[in-house]
Amino acid sequence: MTVGAEASIDLGALRHNLSIARAKAPGSGVVAVIKANGYGHGIERTARALHDADIFAVARLNEAQALRAAGIRHPILLLEGFANSEELRAIAGEGFQVVIHRRGQVDLMWETHDIAALIAWLKVDTGMHRLGFAPDEASVAYQHLSAAPTVAGKPRLMTHLANADNRGDPLTQQQLDRFVHVAHETEGECSAANSAGILGWPASHLEWIRPGIMLYGVSPFVDDSGQAHGLRPVMTLRSTVIAVRTLPKGAAIGYGGAWVCPESMPVGVVAIGYGDGYPRHATSGTPVLVEGTRVDLIGRVSMDMICVDLRKRPQTRVGDTVTLWGDGLAVEEVARSAATIPYQLLCGVTQRVSVVER
Ligand SMILES: *Cc1c(COP(=O)(O)O)cnc(C)c1O
Repeated sequence: MTVGAEASIDLGALRHNLSIARAKAPGSGVVAVIKANGYGHGIERTARALHDADIFAVARLNEAQALRAAGIRHPILLLEGFANSEELRAIAGEGFQVVIHRRGQVDLMWETHDIAALIAWLKVDTGMHRLGFAPDEASVAYQHLSAAPTVAGKPRLMTHLANADNRGDPLTQQQLDRFVHVAHETEGECSAANSAGILGWPASHLEWIRPGIMLYGVSPFVDDSGQAHGLRPVMTLRSTVIAVRTLPKGAAIGYGGAWVCPESMPVGVVAIGYGDGYPRHATSGTPVLVEGTRVDLIGRVSMDMICVDLRKRPQTRVGDTVTLWGDGLAVEEVARSAATIPYQLLCGVTQRVSVVER
């Protein structure tokens, strides 16, 4: 028996979830977003499993370089563009595609000579107010960019939706209206849809969709889980019970004694903690599966351990398998109990956790 946390990665589920994205937007190309180490699933393994995607997207140059070093030959899009002409040279040298989101980057496209032409995506800020050109400056920037000799073909257009995870929010339609308006002044292919756009806003599909979290089997919406959309969880995080004890009424559990036994009761200790990426802020009552039975987390999460209330499963023994999220327990639910989002939980799994593919 191995002791310690293990993340099992279901590659078939990854492929299945990609097929759901395609089926939702059958007329669109797919830019599969695998930044942040494939949302914690391993960037190389994720890329290999998703070889049917048309383009991969990452945030930073070093992520794209890691993919090339692993032998991945797919088109790769850099979502944050480049910081200087050195980076631009490296990008052109590798044939990466690049997002252009500010004037200085357009200038560098003009000023950097002797590089291969590359595919550029102009980012339009339609309401996220993070990266991109304002709608009223976008078409001038587009003309300027498309005339640069370092740009291959017609630049494409991209915007990012700020609130699409909330289906009632009117901002999404406003963003799409602003984007379509800019698109009419240019000839570029367009991309607006993240996972929430793909699943909840058909008008956002356009020429290219950019699924991220849904590929990993997780709902982008605040109030449901991936299963409701036909998605399958890709990562299942498991560990084992390393002690079972009977504690007396009044015993305070763990650091700070934040949870007190209301009666004499069995308590299990599980080898998982924030040192593995289990959220430190998961509250008492967060669900945990012990051999498939839901029990409650009790007391504070430690670096290497958590405690669970075994009154609902008193037959628990050392070595029993515990599921923290994944098969049988939606990571969305755990995230809500920890006042965070599933994205952070998946990205936050640490090096100590061993990874197995299935
Ligand atoms: C991360 C990211 C996505 C994917 O978003 P999800 O909500 O994970 O689907 C799409 N587009 C851009 C620009 C991103 O940064």
